[in-house]
Amino acid sequence: MDFNEAKLRIDELKKIIEENNKAYYILDDPKISDYEYDELFRELKNLENQYPLLRTSDSPTLKVGDKISQGFKEHRHKYRLYSLDNSNNFEDLYKWYERVKKEYPNEEDLELVVELKIDGLSCALSYENGNLKIGATRGNGITGENITENILKIKDIPQKLSKPLNIEVRGEVYMPVSSFERLNEENTERGLKEFANPRNAAAGSLRQLDANITKQRDLHFFAYTLISDDKELVKTHYEALKLLKELGFNTNPNSFLVKGINQAKEKCDIWETERFKLDYATDGMVIKINELAKQNELGYTSRAPKWATAFKFPPEEVWTKLIGIELSVGKTGIVTPVAELEPVQLAGTTVKRASLHNFDEIERLKINIGNEVLIKKAAEIIPKVIRKRENEDFGVYKAPEICPSCKVPLKKEAGEVALYCPNVWGCPAQLKGKIEYFASKEAMDIDGIGASLVDKLFDCGLIKDFADLYNLSVNDFMKLDLIKEKSADNLYNSIQASKSPTMTKFLTALSIKHIGKETADIISSEFSNIDEIINASEEDFIKIDGIGDKAAKSIVNFFRDENNKEILNKLKRYNVNPKGSSVEKISDIFNGKTFVITGTLSEPRSVFEAKIKQYGGKTSSSVSKKTSYVLAGENPGSKFDKASSLGVIILNEEEFNSLIEGKINE
Ligand code: NAD
Repeated sequence: MDFNEAKLRIDELKKIIEENNKAYYILDDPKISDYEYDELFRELKNLENQYPLLRTSDSPTLKVGDKISQGFKEHRHKYRLYSLDNSNNFEDLYKWYERVKKEYPNEEDLELVVELKIDGLSCALSYENGNLKIGATRGNGITGENITENILKIKDIPQKLSKPLNIEVRGEVYMPVSSFERLNEENTERGLKEFANPRNAAAGSLRQLDANITKQRDLHFFAYTLISDDKELVKTHYEALKLLKELGFNTNPNSFLVKGINQAKEKCDIWETERFKLDYATDGMVIKINELAKQNELGYTSRAPKWATAFKFPPEEVWTKLIGIELSVGKTGIVTPVAELEPVQLAGTTVKRASLHNFDEIERLKINIGNEVLIKKAAEIIPKVIRKRENEDFGVYKAPEICPSCKVPLKKEAGEVALYCPNVWGCPAQLKGKIEYFASKEAMDIDGIGASLVDKLFDCGLIKDFADLYNLSVNDFMKLDLIKEKSADNLYNSIQASKSPTMTKFLTALSIKHIGKETADIISSEFSNIDEIINASEEDFIKIDGIGDKAAKSIVNFFRDENNKEILNKLKRYNVNPKGSSVEKISDIFNGKTFVITGTLSEPRSVFEAKIKQYGGKTSSSVSKKTSYVLAGENPGSKFDKASSLGVIILNEEEFNSLIEGKINE
């Protein structure tokens, strides 16, 4: 590219970046993904480095954020705020470290602190004598918006510190992913605009002129910087994090003190995948020089500190083309559209398919084959389609009218969004789905029986339903291509070994609509054998805490159906008999008590559910007046708030264990 071409491209890039800055920083409504923005920004930076004469003082590469929005009072920051330089590859990270290391040639590996880069909105909080005086956004780094009223509504932010200090605290206001999804659901129901991501939801919720709206939103705060004129207060960044915690702030637990860039890289590697387990969004890691004296020596550019850098994770969102829509028929007949995509790299994996949920969702997204779509990977394994390009119109994909497997007209039940195939006993896709699920780990856990084997067994007529699995001989398996005697033996043995499942597994395996593992578990703990369940009435089920009308109706209808009766009889004839209740009782101390679990605990929820049952209690998925206790882990969701408002006792893990050990009374 020659000088003139570079000038044109630089002007164009500056214009695009400024427009997107406005959409992102002022309107909280980005039009492109962060990854695309970063690519444009990097291109501009590289061109300006190549042609320094073309770098003008108004370039976005030389400034922080954008102007502030009208409506808030301006706040002039006492200490200037900066952005962070970032890279998306380790080479640049090593270059940054080399530049810093050059200043300290006689030192071994430097101490660094590696932290999660929380994807929220940065705020500066001024404390005088330990009292919160002002809360402000970063704005352009010199002046921000005075949002003190709104800051006071965030429970995580202490209004009084545990020590009477004069300090400025900076950190990130964020919204948990689960709260963001809930807010978007509510907004859709009320016909309001959805937020593009948790960052924008947090920014939009915090920068509200009516602070009461801020109060209703689930906002949290992680503190990561402490600034004081008293240079003796703390000497390192890591000490500052510790002091912030003592003063009453939440600091992110995943902050690591390391030596040298290799150890920092190790942390980045680990968190590139670990981040998906968190209920808040992170877009990278921040690597900071630990010693504050060194930070001062290294100083700042006009935009960012030289003593820190950010390593950005591969994008969680990326644009690609929708090349097809596959219709899959599930085990209960529900037809689900799945997006087939032009393969694309997303958060470190190649993605070819994404979830579209249902046909109402396609209607909402207004998408069709041919559209460019934004896909996102969050906590779930299968990415989902977020939106299409605004200016593209290929019409809307039409929902099918007949089942793609058995060609019977599809139906929709009143009040439900799902389209389903009513041909329960004649639809090959449904029957195969049921058999495959029956054998799966979650259900009867029969080793070796997966989708392709079920296809073969079904297609050659060896099985028609899941009960037929128990009628298969070793020879039957050997009739199938490529199955040798040893594998046939193994398959036969694993089927035989599955004949005494727990009641929960057995009920789950039947693929009864609205009866998933959790509901099956609740039902299992109420009845002592399968015949009692088969003969129970709708009222018997509704009486059980945690069982709704739909589930009660569905299970009763299931056991009344002649075809199902026949399958259950077959299973009995083959000696498939569920054991009684799935958990053995140890004590009755929780008799009559119902627990609801929320948040992240030190072990999977199932461990706590089993414990509650062992001690005679029950678990439920929703909080009501009937709930005896809420067991709350880290980042509890709305169940916590509901429990507080209903006056339900909330226990943390330690209190829960003490209750079991009899150390505390109810
Ligand atoms: P940034 O978000 O890349 O990094 C700086 C910010 O990181 C800090 O201001 C702070 O708020 C935050 N941060 C989070 N955790 C931190 C920690 N542990 N320590 C220190 N800081 C931490 O920079 P920026 O200037 O706020 O914004 C630029 C970025 O915003 C771009 O890289 C892009 O991803 C996004 N952006 C997107 C669009 C768009 O249209 N999609 C437009 C503008 C900006």
